[in-house]
Amino acid sequence: MASRSCVITGAASGIGAAVLELLRASGWKVIGADLHNADVIADLSSLEGRHRMVERVFEQCAGSVDAVIACAGLSDQSPRTVSVNYFGAIHTLTGLHPLLAGGIQPRAVAIGSLAGTFAIDRRLEEECLNDREIPALDHAGRVSPQLIYATSKSALTKWVRRNAISAARAGRGILLNALAPGFVDTPLTRERLKDEQFNEKRNKSMANLVSGILKPADVAKAVRFLASEDNVGLVGQVIYLDGGAEAVNRGDSVW
Ligand code: NAD
Repeated sequence: MASRSCVITGAASGIGAAVLELLRASGWKVIGADLHNADVIADLSSLEGRHRMVERVFEQCAGSVDAVIACAGLSDQSPRTVSVNYFGAIHTLTGLHPLLAGGIQPRAVAIGSLAGTFAIDRRLEEECLNDREIPALDHAGRVSPQLIYATSKSALTKWVRRNAISAARAGRGILLNALAPGFVDTPLTRERLKDEQFNEKRNKSMANLVSGILKPADVAKAVRFLASEDNVGLVGQVIYLDGGAEAVNRGDSVW
């Protein structure tokens, strides 16, 4: 199989770093973007930073890439989380989309979260999906802080479902999906893991599940599949990589 090319944001740490390592070890040519320690340094919380990321990636690749992976994210209970997790991810997927048009078996992957199935703020989600960043951030400053992360990820996965089936994506053979991990051991969750109360609650709810805490390398394998030529028919799907947590929480209610 010919070597593939790929761009991944959030490449300096956790899941993004594990994906970058796995893909490079698999012979892929990978451009990593992040705030630091990456081929492209850019802050995806701002419009300027997003444009810079797209410009730099265009400069570094030869006119096309085979896969784009929007992984950068944070879990602070602040509006910045909405600007990176939702608007930064959408800009990555749309700004780099022209490169995929020239790619071979092109694939795009957004990293969502199991948290996207939790309680959210509907208005914040609507502002995101209507691409109204300033009102969204303004509203995010007023909602219950614990709803912010879940809402950013819920909005992202809805965007994926709506846009994956468009003429510009599925219609041109560009397969877009979301991977939604459960709890993964990365710097993003490490503080949370020190919280005994949180751990006790989590261990109870995870009692029947295959794996309590996933490793970034476990997630990387699933991302590689979604970004590869082996993914032939998946379009607009949200894959929960969570040891069974989503099935426990939602049961039959998704039908
Ligand atoms: P991490 O903190 O290890 O990595 C996140 C990366 O995103 C960092 O390198 C960081 O610098 C980068 N980033 C943050 N803000 C940025 C910005 N403004 N511009 C550019 N890059 C920025 O966390 P992780 O756990 O590897 O998270 C990766 C993705 O996986 C995130 O989207 C996160 O929401 C998602 N996720 C994580 C978990 C988990 O349990 N760790 C679960 C579900 C989903």
